[in-house]
Amino acid sequence: MELMEKVAYLKGMVDMAEFDPAAKETKVLRALIDAVDEMAQTVAELVEANSQMCEVIESLDEDLSEVENDLYGEDDEDEDDYGYDEDDDSEEEDIYEVTCPSCGKTFDVDEAMLDEGEINCPACGELLEFDLQIEDPPADGSEDATVTE
Ligand SMILES: [Zn+2]
Repeated sequence: MELMEKVAYLKGMVDMAEFDPAAKETKVLRALIDAVDEMAQTVAELVEANSQMCEVIESLDEDLSEVENDLYGEDDEDEDDYGYDEDDDSEEEDIYEVTCPSCGKTFDVDEAMLDEGEINCPACGELLEFDLQIEDPPADGSEDATVTE
């Protein structure tokens, strides 16, 4: 509002000065003050609009923080929380390829089945016993398990 007060003061000064209203200088001066007056009003409107926008942005930011907390948890630790925990991979089961010594059929068994120590061949029904001397399986889990008959 300070700017508009200054313009009002300027207008009053010109009025008090009693310039010759017919003089070109007076007309230019009044046109100039009109223009400054309009600018001051426009600036005041922009300042008001800007402060309203700031309020909206602040409330959006608060809402977004709530959503972030709901999604990623309450703690404020940074991006590490968004990454995948490497432990997740351990839940993936290792698959072993087994060839039945009785019928020659190859099939897959997972670690849980190997832990049982024996399995019936899905092709011929032969009971297969596993010798659990499995070395660390390769990443693709395709290492053959040893089958004893
Ligand atoms: Zn078999």
